[in-house]
Amino acid sequence: MSRAIVIGGSIAGLCSARVLADFFDEVILLDRDQFPAEVAPRSGVPQARHVHALLRRGLQELEGLFPGFTDALLATGAVAMDNGSDMALLRYWGWQDVAPLGSTSLCASRDMIEWTVRSLLRRQTAVQIVVGSAVTGLRASAERHLRVAGVRVRQGDGSSQEIRADLVVDASGRSSRVESWLRDLGIEAPRTQCVDAGAGYASRWYQPPPRAERPAHWWWTALWIDAQPGLPRGAVLFPTEGDRWVVTAAGINGQYPPTDEAGFMQFLGSLGSPAIVHTIARCQPISPIFGNRSTANVYRRYDDWHRELPGFIATGDSVCAFNPIYGQGMTCAAVCASILHRVLRSPWPRGGFERRFFRRQAGFLDDVWALSTGADFLWPETIGERPRTPRIVTKYADLAIESAHHDAALLRHLMPIYDLSGSAARYFEPRFAAKALLAACKRRVTQRLFGDQAIPDLPPVPEDFDPNRKRPSFASLRPGYAAEDPSGAGAQPLHSRAAKPAKRSAVRSAG
Ligand SMILES: Cc1cc2nc3c(=O)[nH]c(=O)nc-3n(C[C@H](O)[C@H](O)[C@H](O)COP(=O)(O)OP(=O)(O)OC[C@H]3O[C@@H](n4cnc5c(N)ncnc54)[C@H](O)[C@@H]3O)c2cc1C
Repeated sequence: MSRAIVIGGSIAGLCSARVLADFFDEVILLDRDQFPAEVAPRSGVPQARHVHALLRRGLQELEGLFPGFTDALLATGAVAMDNGSDMALLRYWGWQDVAPLGSTSLCASRDMIEWTVRSLLRRQTAVQIVVGSAVTGLRASAERHLRVAGVRVRQGDGSSQEIRADLVVDASGRSSRVESWLRDLGIEAPRTQCVDAGAGYASRWYQPPPRAERPAHWWWTALWIDAQPGLPRGAVLFPTEGDRWVVTAAGINGQYPPTDEAGFMQFLGSLGSPAIVHTIARCQPISPIFGNRSTANVYRRYDDWHRELPGFIATGDSVCAFNPIYGQGMTCAAVCASILHRVLRSPWPRGGFERRFFRRQAGFLDDVWALSTGADFLWPETIGERPRTPRIVTKYADLAIESAHHDAALLRHLMPIYDLSGSAARYFEPRFAAKALLAACKRRVTQRLFGDQAIPDLPPVPEDFDPNRKRPSFASLRPGYAAEDPSGAGAQPLHSRAAKPAKRSAVRSAG
């Protein structure tokens, strides 16, 4: 009987287990935590106390992996939002034009997202979820060549056990102990890249006043006050299920937001707009203030690892963890699970599956890494290996983003880059580039002639604002959609492409 083991039962582990269930007779998902029966925090994912934006591509992928995910999340009270018409966003150049962007988000707590995915995974009879089991090492077999053949596990009662497997997947997150596990096997770990912008989060949860008592100028569904040159601090206010709001303050280059009441409020008051601090003054705090500084971009380069280690792969944050400010982690975990599916079902002969997976995964992650670290290097005290992007390209991209900030049509063109459903090549499409540059020139001329326009402190109410407007629809996320996909791994529903016969061949190739 073929068996796969997944280490870690968070988003990357749950998505990987779903894919492996189509190829292995048995999938054991191990987590050191106990999973709460209801939606509740757990210690293994401390980041869940902070805002977790699920990008459109992530929603698409999760819907592909777990058909019904979107409806299940909506049924919990998650809030559907268009990132243009439902959000008040302040950037350096002013408040973003309020217009539908077609880039939709589903706002829910991280705990609820994970709980929903886990509930859907439980429908897979091949998957066994084992909690309270911390993996302490890899088990090797060396018949002819060294290969991973299972894991060593420590249970809650202190006892240890070994579990055999044909494939082991490390999905244990950014604090994975994989270096020490590999060292125990006498293997040098892959090289690691790190880019650290010195970012930190502080978050608090609030109960807003009942809808009828909210002031008319609270037209928005979410507020976003971005960091600006010279002011490396920002904050967001996002709704979640249960009619709660989460406020996350973020500081960059060591400007960590405080976690005491007075310091937190002072930090929020020091941003480009007092909109969030004014709003929460009318809300009821329902949590302490939580801090988090696990934000460096860290990339374990398995794709150019000189070792072949059959029987072992890694995914999720344990391979590439990003600065969370860009909201990419869960989406990447889901995309990489789809890539795993593609690699497992490909008709390649036996052997080398692990390396093929690492390379295909890196083919996707490299672009996201460039986006995330490229943005981090806009801050002068960011440390690490700089991407080799020519200055003129960075300058042009800045101009294009500025033009798009004032023009919903241009922004609509760029949104797929930010929600990871399109590639950065969109910046350089000639029609877009011409319009963006022309708009930038016009703006410079206007500024010269008339000076800078004053930016209102609070988000202005859009002139044609309709409080009864229709909520964005997620119909296009239903199985059957085809995403624009730079990696070639766009989500399609797994149930339609997973074939029973694949089970055997994949196990052979994984061995
Ligand atoms: C402050 C912060 C904010 C974030 N905001 C966003 C956001 O807005 N949008 C977004 O998409 N992403 C965000 N992320 C990233 C996101 O949380 C992760 O990318 C996502 O959870 C996927 O991570 P993962 O499953 O790889 O690992 P994790 O979520 O870190 O989970 C690792 C799992 O492995 C288990 N584990 C660890 N070691 C062992 C072991 N030895 N044995 C057994 N089990 C083990 C843990 O208990 C845990 O369940 C944020 C991250 C941080 C830190």
